Amino acid sequence: MEEYKEIADKIKQADAILIGASNGFSISEGLHIFADDTAFEEIFGDFKRKYGICNILTGLFFNWPSQKIKWAFLSRLIAHYSIGYTGSSNTEALKTIVHDKPYFFVTSNGENHFELAGFSPDRIWEIEGSWKEMQCERGCHDTLYLLFPLIPNMAASEKDMKILSELVPRCPKCGGPMSIHSPQRHAVAADMKIQKRFQDFIQKYHEKRIVILELGIGWKNQLIKAPLMRLAKQEPYAAYITLNKGEIYIPNEIAAKSYGLDGDMTEILERLKQAVEEKNT
Ligand SMILES: [Zn+2]
Repeated sequence: MEEYKEIADKIKQADAILIGASNGFSISEGLHIFADDTAFEEIFGDFKRKYGICNILTGLFFNWPSQKIKWAFLSRLIAHYSIGYTGSSNTEALKTIVHDKPYFFVTSNGENHFELAGFSPDRIWEIEGSWKEMQCERGCHDTLYLLFPLIPNMAASEKDMKILSELVPRCPKCGGPMSIHSPQRHAVAADMKIQKRFQDFIQKYHEKRIVILELGIGWKNQLIKAPLMRLAKQEPYAAYITLNKGEIYIPNEIAAKSYGLDGDMTEILERLKQAVEEKNT
């Protein structure tokens, strides 16, 4: 395919690659936070019947009757989707595509898959937070605490949708409840730090050849897609590549420097990987 060859050329010539990823990327890896599907039924059917949550997203923001129940849901979620995850064919394809180029990820996905797959946490801005860490729910102080190491014990202790009370995380300063790291709830210093790194990256490659690779972001998305399209417009040597299933949106003003790849994420990334590999040989 000519189009893939052209995109591979852009990637080979790029000074840097900026990757934006959202829900569509998670779905292609089997995590669908909006769906009441068979996976949700299999993993959370008991929570669904008892508490009426209809998908992972409602569970993440649910007003659970107790901390033991809240952490039963969260530890089961994180144990299933993050603990033991070391990458997918998608992240492997991305490694080949990025190769030795400077890169940065900006993502609304919270399951921490890019870092777990081996990309540097210093180059991943998880704008809606990450399941890997927790913070004081009241926001009494600014520290993030690692959560992943606590999950296996919590999940193993779960019985009838409750974990052991001694395993419920408590704020070390105020003794109050903890929540998953969420800048929307309470932004902390670490959020500002990674945002600054992102801005420095954009600054560094200003007027350079930057490839913007957008993975599974809905066409109306204002949080990531709109700023990426703006950046593509402003940067004279940018190339904008959007991957989506049935939702390709490219405004006319950036059409000349854009490519829309419609279809299955895993298949497209595989083809793109092959096109880049052919350029390497
Ligand atoms: Zn506190």
